[in-house]
Amino acid sequence: MAQYAKPLARLIDSLSTLPGIGGKSAQRLAFHILSMEEQEVKALADALLYAKENMRYCSCCGNLTDQDPCAICSDPARDPSVICVVEGPRDVAAMERIREYKGLYHVLHGVISPVDGIGPEDINLHSLLVRLQKNDVTEVILATNPSIEGEATAMYIARLLKPAGIKTSRIAHGLPVGGDLEYADEVTLSKSLENRREL
Ligand SMILES: [Zn+2]
Repeated sequence: MAQYAKPLARLIDSLSTLPGIGGKSAQRLAFHILSMEEQEVKALADALLYAKENMRYCSCCGNLTDQDPCAICSDPARDPSVICVVEGPRDVAAMERIREYKGLYHVLHGVISPVDGIGPEDINLHSLLVRLQKNDVTEVILATNPSIEGEATAMYIARLLKPAGIKTSRIAHGLPVGGDLEYADEVTLSKSLENRREL
């Protein structure tokens, strides 16, 4: 990389830590930011800090929220007897976009992946079991991604819940294997929810 003055180099370094931002993109963004009005840059920096300081994970479902419990968990119109288990907060957003699902969520913040040293205790799974003990839940929909880890995690949870007699189902996959829930279009996602199969 070219030799840049320290403040610019620091900005490029910092931007390149973001996912999907390589060295070239980081440079492009840094130059763009420096061409912006100071007020705009301040607004951007403020937005970053404001979001970081005011968003947290819901103590009930693990979704990103600015209130605890989150708006979904505390909505009396939602059906608390159905819990949809997803990998991340972005998957909740994807499911909410189809506007058909009226149950609650549980966000795992990852998947079980022995290759990466991630076991069941490393994801937000224990709190799901606690929720199931405390609440009257009749169905758990496993909506982890159709990747190897996502499938394995769904199977693991299904086996875990079997003795409790709670119905578990897996969303159907018109979703491409290895595809992410969050990038699925609404029709595909809606169909995969509708065609879920009991495990
Ligand atoms: Zn919640």
